[in-house]
Amino acid sequence: MAEFTMELNEEQKEVRDWLHGFAADVIRPAAAEWDEREETPWPVIQEAAKVGIYSLDFYAQQYFDPTGLGIPMAMEELFWGDAGIALSIVGTGLAAVGVLANGTEEQIGTWIPQMYGDAGDVKVAAFCSSEPDAGSDVASMRTRAVYDEAKDEWVLSGTKTWATNGGIANVHVVVAVVDPELGSKGHASFIVPPNTPGLSQGQKFKKHGIRASHTAEVVLEDVRVPGSCLLGGKEKLDERLARARERAKAGGERVKNAAMATFEASRPAVGAMAVGTARAAYEVALDYARTREQFGRPIIDNQGVAFQLADMRTSIDAARLLVWRASWMAINGKPFTAAEGSMSKLFASETAKKVTGQAIQILGGNGYTREYPVERMHRDAAIYTIFEGTSEIQRLVIARTLSGMPIR
Ligand SMILES: Cc1cc2nc3c(=O)[nH]c(=O)nc-3n(C[C@H](O)[C@H](O)[C@H](O)COP(=O)(O)OP(=O)(O)OC[C@H]3O[C@@H](n4cnc5c(N)ncnc54)[C@H](O)[C@@H]3O)c2cc1C
Repeated sequence: MAEFTMELNEEQKEVRDWLHGFAADVIRPAAAEWDEREETPWPVIQEAAKVGIYSLDFYAQQYFDPTGLGIPMAMEELFWGDAGIALSIVGTGLAAVGVLANGTEEQIGTWIPQMYGDAGDVKVAAFCSSEPDAGSDVASMRTRAVYDEAKDEWVLSGTKTWATNGGIANVHVVVAVVDPELGSKGHASFIVPPNTPGLSQGQKFKKHGIRASHTAEVVLEDVRVPGSCLLGGKEKLDERLARARERAKAGGERVKNAAMATFEASRPAVGAMAVGTARAAYEVALDYARTREQFGRPIIDNQGVAFQLADMRTSIDAARLLVWRASWMAINGKPFTAAEGSMSKLFASETAKKVTGQAIQILGGNGYTREYPVERMHRDAAIYTIFEGTSEIQRLVIARTLSGMPIR
């Protein structure tokens, strides 16, 4: 285990500075345009692919950084540039992690390259779990996967919603119910290969923020995929289902809690995105407060303004520390005995919402217009308290973990 230090090592600093350069020179200048267009910023994704940021290699390198700080550092810098564009760049990675976590080596080797495409012909991927009636309550998912033994095919039917890159993805990862009796333990993940008949995009949502990121419904009508598209394979699924049935007999709560634990690990990454957006808005506000003059002096000369900036910076640093702690714990295999992953996401996402609002206040009328980026950042920040589990769900997870009680 690495000796405790609060400093990034030289290699990490180099990667951070390289990402910051891309975020400052390529992402930030394009942010307002793609926010207005509400379209996937393909040219920016291509640019990211050319320099190696949009690739499995890059993502895997950060993922396996032994300090755990590779992913949070990368997320913070890219989302500092712009949240909508950054989500368009890292959205594929989120789907790829689903395959890395559950797929066989053959599945990883076959599908992940098709998720990214190549620099000359970039592709994206989508992870489809949420449904119109199953958001926070994942266990109530209705999309079914039925095995057709004669053909060794799975047949998927249902409607997914709010899928990032849904419908425009080359590869969709779809979570579906294989055993309705088992709640979320009866779910399995499937690859839907490019151009599979029966998969179509439903409505594309017009959103409050992160508007460069494509969010849409995905409709599955008798979508047939080969048996080899079940992530992890049939044998492993059958074993897992058998174990879950045994455990369900022994006591249903244990099954639910085990499912919740798996979400914990991805939450610090969302916290890091929120830290990036919060830091971006804080920097704009600090700069503005130093230069804007009213009553014959810079507005930062007023304690009322300076103290707000002090609080903003304090919260951002605290959020980053929670994110780094949870990321370090995850890579070192430390159990989240106090739901530290959820804590980091909860605090960082609430911080981003608050800090971006404070930034608007510091910029006054200018903050409220699209001439300055903080109103966009404020709209973007609202997503962090919603996706990957709302703030209320994070509190529920933390409270249950601390108390051991099935709090509702
Ligand atoms: C832009 C965007 C991108 C997304 N990307 C993806 C994606 O790529 N893939 C994917 O699968 N999903 C995605 N989602 C879905 C997202 O994860 C869900 O929106 C989220 O989990 C919340 O579900 P819901 O919207 O149905 O809200 P609901 O679950 O209906 O919640 C509504 C409100 O009730 C509260 N609430 C619910 N249950 C409780 C409770 N037990 N106690 C207290 N309060 C409660 C919630 O906190 C919330 O405030 C995305 C969503 C958005 C908006």
